[in-house]
Amino acid sequence: MNLWNSSPFFENALTQFKNAGSIMNLDANIVERLSKPDRALIVDVPIRMDDGNIKAYTGFRVQYNDALGPSKGGMRYSPGVTLGDAAALAMLMTWKCALAGLPLGGAKGALCVDPTVLSRNELQRVTRRFTMELISMIGPNSDIPAPDLGTNEQIMAWMMDTYSQQVGVATPGVVTGKPITIGGSLFRHEATGRGVVYCIERAAENAGLALGDDVTFAIQGFGNVGAMAAKALVELGCRCVAVTTSRGGIFNSLGLPLDDLYECYKQNGSFLCYEEAEQITNEELMALKCDVLVLAAQAGQITGENAAKVQCRILAEGANGPVTMDADPVLDDKGVVVIPDILANAGGVITSYFEWVQDLQHLFWDAENIERRLRRILHKTFDETVELGRKYKVNMRTAALLTGLGKVAQAMLLRGLYP
Ligand code: NAD
Repeated sequence: MNLWNSSPFFENALTQFKNAGSIMNLDANIVERLSKPDRALIVDVPIRMDDGNIKAYTGFRVQYNDALGPSKGGMRYSPGVTLGDAAALAMLMTWKCALAGLPLGGAKGALCVDPTVLSRNELQRVTRRFTMELISMIGPNSDIPAPDLGTNEQIMAWMMDTYSQQVGVATPGVVTGKPITIGGSLFRHEATGRGVVYCIERAAENAGLALGDDVTFAIQGFGNVGAMAAKALVELGCRCVAVTTSRGGIFNSLGLPLDDLYECYKQNGSFLCYEEAEQITNEELMALKCDVLVLAAQAGQITGENAAKVQCRILAEGANGPVTMDADPVLDDKGVVVIPDILANAGGVITSYFEWVQDLQHLFWDAENIERRLRRILHKTFDETVELGRKYKVNMRTAALLTGLGKVAQAMLLRGLYP
């Protein structure tokens, strides 16, 4: 029986994994073992609502593979999420952690709830009960959750407190993405967007593009990842010509002033108040002629339908899965360098790893130290990926998958099969 097949997302991830396996001639026994998760827990999470009635939500935690170390992965709160989706995301986390050389396996958790319709007290109750239901699975030495869609640092604080109350000692290392006061890490907030730009630095170098005033960039999505990436690119001297959010965006070939845009976005959640630029749609942004395009919003933005219109030289996937499988060959033919999500946005999980290490050591690092370590890891990972891509004559997406998968497979072969 295969419980996971019902999710197209899982089927897609499995196909990509099997294709990568055949390119690298992966041991058939390893393919068999990696075709499904190590374990999953499905839990019922009943809570008393503010009106006195009881509601019960379904939650899951999936640990995909822990050959390299304790499992790591986000907790998603979303009404439509399925067990198969969580398994697919846990598989991707496995490759992402391995690719970056972290001593961690991959996991993902999900609760089928819309957090926006709960009161703060209901959200706290559902989070504490969910944590209790998963208590046999999570822990600082076994499986370390983090924020994902629909969750945030307050939810991580409640999870950390619930776990700590149960085991009887404060255990900050049980989750990452916490507030700094209770063991969160400096630079976590900046890490994903900055990490995207560390990868762009290497891609530009390889393409003979000197990052500076002549280099133009466009950003889809002006949230945590997109806005941080934009700031870092401007610091390198590049010119931001377009930004969009879910409510459309703006374009100015002479450059946009980011500080004004932050203010405008903070106040309105859009750029409608900024008048010194042309309005553009998301479709138009993706077809702009520019050097660097950062996709930092949602999955499935560039597809087989619109890929031919893309005109950038470097495309960085800040979001997870913004380019679909059928768009890849079109972009390859056009010579666009695509920095795949598991590499481009790995700054988030790498800094989560730093947070966990600091919590375990009870010794906290300054932001410069974290930034330096992050940059070094991402440059090294980028170079390794390019090298493997050359060896197997594949694009960066496949090369990144091969790099991560290769490390997991090697660990499994060394550890062998129990008993
Ligand atoms: P966020 O919620 O802070 O920002 C998302 C932004 O995207 C918002 O500006 C929103 O208006 C915009 N947006 C939404 N739909 C859009 C659309 N169709 N077109 C254009 N803009 C749209 O989210 P975030 O934390 O910046 O994450 C962005 C993406 O990066 C997500 O896919 C997330 O899963 C991924 N990611 C984030 C992190 C992290 O550390 N934050 C780590 C890894 C991956």
